[in-house]
Parts: sequence; structure tokens; C-alpha cells
Amino acid sequence: MDFSITTEQQALFDSMRKLGADVVAPGAAERDREGRWDREMWAKLASAGVAGMPIPEEYGGSGGSILDCCLVNEALAQGGHDGGLGLSLGAHWVIGAVPIWLHGSEELKRTWLPGLCDGTYMGAWASTEPESGSDAASFRTTAVRDGDEFVLNGTKIFITNGPIADVCNVLARTDKGPTAFCVDTRTPGFVVGRELDKMGCRSSPTAEIHLQDCRVPASSILSIEGEALWKVAFECFDWERTVMMAGSIGGMRATITEAITYAKQREQFGKPIAHFQAIAHKIAEMEINYHACRNAVYKAAWLKQEGKEHQLEASIAKAMVGKLSVENALESVQIHGGYGYLKDFPAERAVRDSKLSSIGGGTTEIQKMIISRLLLA
Ligand SMILES: Cc1cc2nc3c(=O)[nH]c(=O)nc-3n(C[C@H](O)[C@H](O)[C@H](O)COP(=O)(O)OP(=O)(O)OC[C@H]3O[C@@H](n4cnc5c(N)ncnc54)[C@H](O)[C@@H]3O)c2cc1C
Repeated sequence: MDFSITTEQQALFDSMRKLGADVVAPGAAERDREGRWDREMWAKLASAGVAGMPIPEEYGGSGGSILDCCLVNEALAQGGHDGGLGLSLGAHWVIGAVPIWLHGSEELKRTWLPGLCDGTYMGAWASTEPESGSDAASFRTTAVRDGDEFVLNGTKIFITNGPIADVCNVLARTDKGPTAFCVDTRTPGFVVGRELDKMGCRSSPTAEIHLQDCRVPASSILSIEGEALWKVAFECFDWERTVMMAGSIGGMRATITEAITYAKQREQFGKPIAHFQAIAHKIAEMEINYHACRNAVYKAAWLKQEGKEHQLEASIAKAMVGKLSVENALESVQIHGGYGYLKDFPAERAVRDSKLSSIGGGTTEIQKMIISRLLLA
């Protein structure tokens, strides 16, 4: 069994961790407080090749594998410790650009991918609706054919990058069934609604989207009309369960580092609190959780990359990260004592940011449903 990464991948990881520390970390607390996406930061990341990481070079991307994407998202989170950046970047990559690359026509690829890769465009995905969350197949947005066009009507909610996206992959139901449309967000009838005020990952903008007689060309269909669930959505969710979770484990690493630094420097009863076994064991438990999650996420990503069956491992990884990342963040707050309860340290933000891992892209309950179905089949 080979757990090593190549020298190039290690160099990529190190350079991305440094980029995270230099470019993402400095304004992270402020962006969280203000709930603000930073376009300048995004431009700097894009110029380092981050925005187009999973997309082949012929479309302007960096041609990274799924493992490379995991390493980059993990490294940026480790260095930058901003859950919102991981969320927006993950959505831009795996549910924004990747479906266009894997399922779009050559024309769609040439129209959107170069801009998505150089950071000019931002990508998004809209499947969730007010009445259709975990039951993702029950969405009601309709797409009615009219000549060479489809007319979209419906409401989407929780759309990551909704307020800043230039292109959004929208799930709508035609008379043939669930269909994915690659929609230019400037299209009349594509209306960005209320921006959602979130508990965590606040530097990532989230919105409702209203489709009001939004006319899109039939050529904007991704994959085959009526087959979006199996051919497009479930594949994206695989990427989501690995690449997005890699960002979360980068956050777990940063949380441990911050807890260790504080425990070594904070003194009570005449010595650093790290010298008390109760605190040292908390750090050991956090490290155990981190290793278990990291191994689970990279195993799922590796299986996916090798084209092997990976559904069980991907759901296990997501369920583990959903639970243990929050557990670690709460322990970090505890190690920081009263100061951990303040916004002066990143520990409380880590609690709020990490909570999304058990909800977005399929809740922990749904992961357990998938795991148990596979076992009981
Ligand atoms: C910050 C954020 C960003 C997001 N980004 C996007 C995005 O970019 N695009 C997009 O389309 N969507 C996005 N989502 C939506 C996300 O995928 C859904 O919120 C998620 O799938 C859960 O759906 P729901 O919120 O409607 O909860 P519900 O499905 O209503 O679930 C409520 C509770 O019931 C449980 N539950 C539901 N069904 C079952 C069951 N069968 N068995 C056991 N328990 C069950 C759930 O686990 C949960 O605990 C985002 C959400 C958030 C919070």
C-alpha cells in the first residue's frame, strides 16, 4: 500500500499552504465579521492557477487530478483558515466548472472554461429548492421547450456563489425528466434574490435564485436531457464529498496548530496549560480525529481517481468529517478557555465554519442512509 504523494504534489501543497497564509489568512476574521467575499483575494489566487485547478490545460486550467484538488483545498485551508474560501472555491470547481468540462458541449466549454480558470468568471450550482433539500430528486423547477429554447421557472435556495456567479448550472425538470442547464447569470429572468445571512463560512456569499421565464438555449443542456441526476448531479456530489471535505481537514489541521500554540503559551498554576494531562490529551484526541478524517478523505479521492467503486468510502469520509471537525473545533474553544469564546481567536469561527460539513452537499443523516443501504442491500 502506497500512501506517498509525488515530489511535485508536495511542492504544490507547500506553495498553496504559503499562498493561504499570505493571501487568505490576513483578512479572514474581518471577512467573517462582515460576511464579505473578497474579489481581490480571489484574483490573487486565480493568478496562481487555483481557479482552474481541475480543468485541463487546453481550456486554460491547471490540469490537476482530483487528488491535486484535494491537496490544494486542504493546503489553502491549512494556511488561510477561512472556511468560506474553501466553500466558494469548492463550489466554483466541483459543481461550477467540472460539470461544464465533463458534460458540456465544446461550445459551452470554450465559452465558459477559460474565464472560470483565469478567475474572470465565478461558477455555481443550483439544485436545492425551498421544498427539496435532502430529497434532491423532488425539485419542482420546470423547463418548458419553446423551439430552440427552454423556459425555466422556479426558486432555488442556498446557492453558494449565487450573488457573484457568472455561470450557474441549474437543475430543472423538462417533459423528459431532470435536466441540467448551464445558465449565463446575465440572462433576463435569472434573478438573484435574498442574500442569506449564515452562521459560518460567512466570507462565501449564498443566495436564493429566482427563475422567472428565464429563456436559455437548448444547447446549454449538460449531458443528456432528462438524465441529469445520474449523469451530472451524482458525479458532482462525489467530487463534493472529497474535494470539499479536504478543505475541512485543512481547517482541522489549522485548528490543532492554533490550540497547540495557545496551550504552550497560556500559563495557569505556574506552568503552561499544555503541561496538564487533561489539555495534552485533548490535543492528542484532536490529532487522532484529524488523521482518521484525512485518511478517509484521501482514500475516497484516490478510489475515485483510479475509477474504482468509492461511494461507501466517500460517504464514510463525509460523515466522519461532519462529526469530528466540529468536535475538534469545540475542543479548541475549550483549550482557549474564556478567550476561545471570544472572536479574538479563530477557535469560535472554526466551530461555526466546521458545522457546515455535516449539512451542505448531503447531510450526515443522508450519508448514513447511503452507508446503511449499501451494507443492507
Ligand atoms: C452554506 C450552504 C451552502 C449550500 N450550497 C449549495 C449550493 O451551492 N447549491 C445547492 O444546490 N445547494 C446548496 N446547499 C444546500 C444543501 O445541499 C442542503 O441544505 C442539504 O442537502 C440539506 O437540505 P435541507 O437544508 O433542505 O434540509 P432537509 O432535507 O430539510 O433536512 C432537515 C433534517 O432532516 C434530515 N433528513 C432529511 N431526510 C432524511 C431522511 N430520509 N432520513 C433521515 N434524516 C433525514 C436531514 O439530515 C436534516 O437533519 C447549501 C447549503 C448550505 C447550508
